[in-house]
Amino acid sequence: MHHFRYVKGQLHCEGVAVEELVQQYGSPLYIYSSQTLTHHYHSLEQALSGLDHSICYAVKANSNIGVLHTLAKLGSGFDTVSQGELMRVKAAGGDLGRCVFAGVGKTAEEIRYALKSGIYAFNIESLAELQRIQAIAAEMGKTAPVAIRVNPNVDAGTHAKITTGTYENKFGIAYEDIEALYERMARMPHLKLRGIQMHIGSQLTKVKPFVDAVRKMIPLVKRLRDRHGLECFSIGGGLGIVYDPALESGTPAWWQGKQAKGLLTPAIYAKRLLPLLKPLGMRILIEPGRFIAGNAGLLVTRVEYIKDTGKKHFVIVDAAMNDLIRPSFYEAYHQIVPIRASRATLIPTDVVGPICESGDTFCKNRPLPKCREGDLLGMLSAGAYAFTMASNYNTRAMPAEILVDGDQHHVVRKRQTLRSLWQLESLPKG
Ligand SMILES: *Cc1c(COP(=O)(O)O)cnc(C)c1O
Repeated sequence: MHHFRYVKGQLHCEGVAVEELVQQYGSPLYIYSSQTLTHHYHSLEQALSGLDHSICYAVKANSNIGVLHTLAKLGSGFDTVSQGELMRVKAAGGDLGRCVFAGVGKTAEEIRYALKSGIYAFNIESLAELQRIQAIAAEMGKTAPVAIRVNPNVDAGTHAKITTGTYENKFGIAYEDIEALYERMARMPHLKLRGIQMHIGSQLTKVKPFVDAVRKMIPLVKRLRDRHGLECFSIGGGLGIVYDPALESGTPAWWQGKQAKGLLTPAIYAKRLLPLLKPLGMRILIEPGRFIAGNAGLLVTRVEYIKDTGKKHFVIVDAAMNDLIRPSFYEAYHQIVPIRASRATLIPTDVVGPICESGDTFCKNRPLPKCREGDLLGMLSAGAYAFTMASNYNTRAMPAEILVDGDQHHVVRKRQTLRSLWQLESLPKG
């Protein structure tokens, strides 16, 4: 669900017309809905209300400090994967004491920063990392709160690039090795055994892989809880979203065919998982990223050229794979809609960017209303793994980001200037 809809034929984000924002801030432009962020956060809170739980929003999905601030105000904790993300949480007014720090390659400097900041837990991915954290904590005279990321070896049934919970993946420590490892950790004086963690993948649209993984983990979690007094069990993120829903009221008829089928809702997730988790009597952490931010974002782009080759109808836009890489990287689908509702005939269209790569394609042969130079198009569900994956490839400046709240809006990131792109570079001497 989200708060982008047509009002009198004009796409709005909450109470603000998208076209007006583009007139003011240019194109391409990222626009986020704070009501959508809030709605998703609350729906998870509500679904998990019967459980001692903590939502740690996965910062990598959308790390704009305006977005983090919105979630911090709602009481969210954060799942981070670098010192940079921890520092962003702090800059956004978030509580570092409610942060977990994950990732397979934490550097000594990052570990020191996290220890100084008093994070809730390190999610640990290897024995070597554990030994490094123990040594650094000893050196600093501190105790490091740790949880081991278990690889439960279940197939999440999602895209190969975003599945993480099988032994083919680089993540976590094998299920079979966990108990011996906790025994070993219990003898390391500068560690506090905070809990245990898993994360099986992203964009899961079925509840079964979660249920399978939790079921497999429970006997292990119970034994570790009893033996080492663990206080929390993190079941990771991964809740999927619908990338192709029909918009709500005011939707032109040609959109309404595509209905969300088999959507994994927080209610279904909670209904199946709560009965398994509640008897543990532990705090349950979840680390949703995409579920909270995915549908809260829109990438607006302007049509530069129409190129009809006889074989193909190309719409060349001013956004490119450097702004939104998901279609080229994951073969991801983003619904593309006109900013002014259109009754024009639908024609099979390839929407492409200006970058010198064939992969710079947002969709192929998709029926879209015929458009003209200067028209604005919107790519929906561009709130997660969108701006955070943007780059300056082809020396293109990254777009501005706008956060809408009701009929107010805030520039939460300015458009990069071109000159700033080589500001850190210099000519060789001589
Ligand atoms: C990426 C990631 C998440 C968030 O995944 P979503 O699919 O966006 O919910 C949570 N936990 C870990 C460890 C991750 O790597």
